[in-house]
Amino acid sequence: MRLALIETANQPALSLVKDGRFLPVSAVNAAAPNDLAQFLAWVGNWQAFVTQAPRTGWLPVPEDGWRAPLSPSGRIFCIGKNYADHAREMGMASGGPVAPDIFIRFASSFVGHRGTTEFPEGESSFDFEGELVVVIGKAGRHIAEERALDHVFGYTAANDGSLRRIQKRTSQFSLGKNIDRSGALGPTIVPAGEIANPQGLALRTRVNDRLMQDGTTADMTFPIATVIAVLSSVTELQPGDIILTGTPAGVGAGRTPPEFLHAGDRIRIDIDGLDSLEMTVAQVPGRIL
Ligand code: ZN
Repeated sequence: MRLALIETANQPALSLVKDGRFLPVSAVNAAAPNDLAQFLAWVGNWQAFVTQAPRTGWLPVPEDGWRAPLSPSGRIFCIGKNYADHAREMGMASGGPVAPDIFIRFASSFVGHRGTTEFPEGESSFDFEGELVVVIGKAGRHIAEERALDHVFGYTAANDGSLRRIQKRTSQFSLGKNIDRSGALGPTIVPAGEIANPQGLALRTRVNDRLMQDGTTADMTFPIATVIAVLSSVTELQPGDIILTGTPAGVGAGRTPPEFLHAGDRIRIDIDGLDSLEMTVAQVPGRIL
């Protein structure tokens, strides 16, 4: 059983998803919050909640109904260059940073599964980054590495879509990572209990069916537990916060010559144990200054 944000008739509903059908959490328990962060703080025992789900009322997920499973109050932390082979392809001879290289994305920079990711006119450096995403379920400050995974509710996938020209223009690369609708996230959040070892998952990104990234989360420089320990030493992590854990080698910018995205391209990210995340690419009017 998985968790997703499904929109029908302009109403996003936090929902259980199984076998392509969904049921709003409010249909399981009228008190269940529709907001992801509030729901995760409220739910307590996920298995007990799932057991209460009625067998009736499930509907097929509409083709265009997937939204990024995010809460407006949740924060989005991202780890840069967290795989040595990717750090090297991006020009870091050392193989990566000495501490987790953390930046922030806004929810407005993500579309959902089967959405259209966008890059602005006049740009030619739009790139993909397939990533494993951690969804925090339990609050904590100064979390020890040994207990860090106890704070994870589940996992999903993301494309940390990046406009390289803007990312590399100054030392602060947040703007190049935050173009509206330039990334994608989802489709579902898979509860941690379904993932035996989050550090042993194959991660593959395909563009127009061509394999571009073929990595494994075993190769993270800073594993999930370390990242949670470091982040929570700075700020109390909250249910609904998410962490994009970095991308392996094979991005467009790392190729010779570079191979950036074009309008009409199709991207697919497959991570072991998770539902596949698909999106298309469009170029839209309006220049970046
Ligand atoms: Zn990334």
